[in-house]
Amino acid sequence: HNQSYQWIKGMIEDVITLLNTQAKNFDIRINLVCPNDYVVYVDRSQMKQVFINLIKNAIEAMAAPGEITAKVERRQNLCVASVIDEGPGIPPHLIHKVKEPFFTTKKEGTGLGLMITTRIIENHNGLFKILSNKPTGTTFEVHLPYYSPSN
Ligand code: ADP
Ligand code: MG
Repeated sequence: HNQSYQWIKGMIEDVITLLNTQAKNFDIRINLVCPNDYVVYVDRSQMKQVFINLIKNAIEAMAAPGEITAKVERRQNLCVASVIDEGPGIPPHLIHKVKEPFFTTKKEGTGLGLMITTRIIENHNGLFKILSNKPTGTTFEVHLPYYSPSN
């Protein structure tokens, strides 16, 4: 692997820049809520791939005007980065299936994005969580170990 200390905010900003054109085609705005920046110990290109997969899925799920929010916060000993969309959500009976390889509901999907995402996050000693929003939408949470720069 190729892990090093990286600021998380710039990493997500890079991904938003990359996907903004695609989002704008659907009138989707991608917000970043990151009042504090955090250092994480990651393979930068792999972790960017995680956020590419999640934000792309969010755009594809919505495919209509609306907002995607990427949010970064500290929770105790974790740095949590979330991608929140306003799509139709994932039905409860499919939640455990979407991380499986080749599971897709898209005409031209590979069904590999969330499997790869899960694998990358677990290689970083992190945790990947999928939550349903009310009344609609999905939240994907990437939990990474919190690194205290002062130590
Ligand atoms: P693909 O995007 O190629 O279908 P993924 O592994 O990225 O493969 O996603 C698997 C499936 O999970 C998708 O086909 C879709 O059914 C569901 N899914 C993923 N992200 C979302 C989302 N943000 N909202 C609703 N469903 C989603
Ligand atoms: Mg995908």
